[in-house]
Amino acid sequence: MIDLRSDTVTRPSAEMRQVMFDAPLGDDVWGDDPSVHQLQHYAAAQTGKAAALFFPSGTQSNLVALMSHCQRGDEYIVGQQAHTYRLEGGGAAVLGSIQPQPIDNAADGSLPMEKIAAAIKPIDPHFARTRLLALENTFNGQVLDADYVHQATALARRHGLATHLDGARVGNAVTASGSTLEALCAPFDSVSICCSKGLGAPAGSVLVGSQALIDQARRWRKVVGGGMRQVGLLAAACEYALTHHLPALAADHAKAERLAAGLGAIDGIEVTSQATNMVFVRFNRGDTFDPEHLHAWLRERDILVGALYAPRFVTHRDVSEADIDQVVDAFARYFASH
Ligand SMILES: *Cc1c(COP(=O)(O)O)cnc(C)c1O
Repeated sequence: MIDLRSDTVTRPSAEMRQVMFDAPLGDDVWGDDPSVHQLQHYAAAQTGKAAALFFPSGTQSNLVALMSHCQRGDEYIVGQQAHTYRLEGGGAAVLGSIQPQPIDNAADGSLPMEKIAAAIKPIDPHFARTRLLALENTFNGQVLDADYVHQATALARRHGLATHLDGARVGNAVTASGSTLEALCAPFDSVSICCSKGLGAPAGSVLVGSQALIDQARRWRKVVGGGMRQVGLLAAACEYALTHHLPALAADHAKAERLAAGLGAIDGIEVTSQATNMVFVRFNRGDTFDPEHLHAWLRERDILVGALYAPRFVTHRDVSEADIDQVVDAFARYFASH
């Protein structure tokens, strides 16, 4: 199968499995797991933060970050299309008693400054207390503009808000921008990083921030059930992913460019955006076009894609350039005959 549904489908390589097999282990709820400690030290050092904490998922890492910044009845400003708001089951409200204040994302993923400013509430018992600004980088594969990030986080700080970055794919942003992890994390009080996307670990995310924030987060992680025992097995995979696979993400971006160029040359397909490892397209084939038929047709040819009413293709380390050419060829044949 050539699987372009997401970069989450990546499987651990033989080398990564060996590192997992060899990892020294202990009970991490007791603070005894050396492999978890090593990952947390590495992540804190690389992001320029004082401390780090390991999580089973990015959803839980984001949730715990929000709960550590905000009290019950506080509010966070977040994108209408942000993963944290839209794709995490409403966890901030459901489990954190934190009121989201969503704002429409601009096409580039930013939250317009004037809309952020207008959403910050005065101190008044009528209002929830606005406490936090949350951004996302990359957003639909796009790298947030660095000047924008500096301005938006400065605006937040002027109003006494904390700042959180959902950096699930910040490694892709590092690779595409030529910047460093430390520079992209510097404007934020906390950053959540997924090792289980294009970085290729089987599971695991890291939250980085100040020592005080991470101490809070360790408590909330236990409360939401994220305290794990001999989890150095996964932490070792995540450290391997950060050290060995992050520098290799450029290859995923090259494959996405190749896919966008190939699909864009097919009559009936318009590439609406390609950034880092994601390609978005639109099909220009009128009312007779049936995305479900195309989906099934591709599947019969061992090509897996997400729902085609909103077509997004994600490249990753487990698809080759030859696979990409095979996908382009399959689309070309379909659109030539349907
Ligand atoms: C994947 C992802 C997360 C976290 O998802 P998990 O599947 O829980 O690890 C958070 N934010 C963004 C933008 C993501 O793509």
